[in-house]
Amino acid sequence: MRSSQFFMPTLRENPSEAQIVSHRLMLRAGMVRQASAGIYSWLPLGFKVLKNIERIVREEQDRAGCQEVLMPTIQSADLWRESGRYDDYGKEMLRITDRHDREMLYGPTNEEQITEIFRNAAKSYRDVPKMLYHIQWKFRDEVRPRFGVMRGREFLMKDAYSFDLDQAGAKRAYNKMFVSYLRTFARMGLRAIPMAADTGPIGGDLSHEFIILADTGESAVFCDKSFIERDVLSLDIDYDSDLEPLVKQWTTDYAATDEKHDTAKFGALPKDRQVEARGIEVGHIFYFGTKYSEPLRAQVQNPEGQTVPVHMGSYGIGVSRLVGGIIEASHDDKGIIWPESVAPFKVGLINLKAGDAVTTPMADELYAKLRRAGIEVLYDDRDVRAGEKFAQMDLIGLPYQVVVGPRGAAKGEVEFKLRKTGAVEEISADAALKKLG
Ligand code: ATP
Ligand code: MG
Ligand code: MG
Ligand code: MG
Repeated sequence: MRSSQFFMPTLRENPSEAQIVSHRLMLRAGMVRQASAGIYSWLPLGFKVLKNIERIVREEQDRAGCQEVLMPTIQSADLWRESGRYDDYGKEMLRITDRHDREMLYGPTNEEQITEIFRNAAKSYRDVPKMLYHIQWKFRDEVRPRFGVMRGREFLMKDAYSFDLDQAGAKRAYNKMFVSYLRTFARMGLRAIPMAADTGPIGGDLSHEFIILADTGESAVFCDKSFIERDVLSLDIDYDSDLEPLVKQWTTDYAATDEKHDTAKFGALPKDRQVEARGIEVGHIFYFGTKYSEPLRAQVQNPEGQTVPVHMGSYGIGVSRLVGGIIEASHDDKGIIWPESVAPFKVGLINLKAGDAVTTPMADELYAKLRRAGIEVLYDDRDVRAGEKFAQMDLIGLPYQVVVGPRGAAKGEVEFKLRKTGAVEEISADAALKKLG
């Protein structure tokens, strides 16, 4: 993509409405625009990142054996009356009436909907276990939408649901999702810590929030320092094996949000292991037994011939929140620093002197070669000041920059820069191409 053609309305000044860095940078980089309170349009740069995050989420759900579906955004109120949540949900639910005066709603989540699909399809224990997910827009009329896409009213969520014969089966599903979440967030360059979360009336310990640490996080969190150093991507995970030992490893050391915080337990840790920070909830997994399957009568026949309600869990990831979350975790005073896995382009190519007889053919050729090699590149071919090009490239945070300037071009060299460290090397254009391939 050539910058001269790309729709990327960047802002030079900090927008006054943005209180946190990710919101500021997303507006400045032209990634999103607010449509109304808590509702955003995604512009090309932002939409590319959103889709990259979605792709990683999808790959890891598929890998764990979860099957993708797509349920509607608009649901019938009747279904929510069956579960009893139509009244309970309160003002966060956006209620709609259609032309026939039927009560509808814009789904804030999909437990009822998926349970209805499942109950009409499943009859026997042979129909479980099943795990289904979708990636769909949700609407929650938050009291205080803020921080840009981090707490929107309309937001993109991946929500998965598991159906099992009994609690032991549900725990296996829970473990799969637990491990898949570790991988999902790690692939985005995030250190997401699973923290014990409130299970409400169901009790037990089968609910975890996945929290990334950031000063602007909305909840206070407490954890053992061990979580900061862990690696999960190097593990070879077989989702058909018993994942309990791995889950144990990740749930034994202390980690809790303020809701579940136990000061005595935390205080018993050696001082240098106590991490007290703020966190952003990027995912939440939950075993809720028969909470929905009972009222909605999602039942199967067990091998003994008895009809029993299925045991369910639900597993959410804030896909659009992650765009802001990743920026909170990875930026500097110049702008965003994208991890390669979610970057909107891998490399920014800058022709320092548009129209120059030496730099332009060299930059054009490199651009053509990068595209031929299938490497996503944003080519700043505009006739603007060098300083402006540098500032914009740093702002939008592509992992690599290749700068073609008159001095280097005369020697057949380009500047190859890593956005993260700022380290610059002068190398030949071919060497740059090789590094990126
Ligand atoms: P929060 O505590 O931040 O209000 P939640 O606990 O209400 O979130 P869940 O019902 O657990 O949210 O939904 C699953 C995931 O959806 C959350 O972990 C979060 O990443 C994301 N999410 C929830 N509400 C929003 C929102 N208003 N804007 C963007 N993402 C959200
Ligand atoms: Mg909420
Ligand atoms: Mg929460
Ligand atoms: Mg939650």
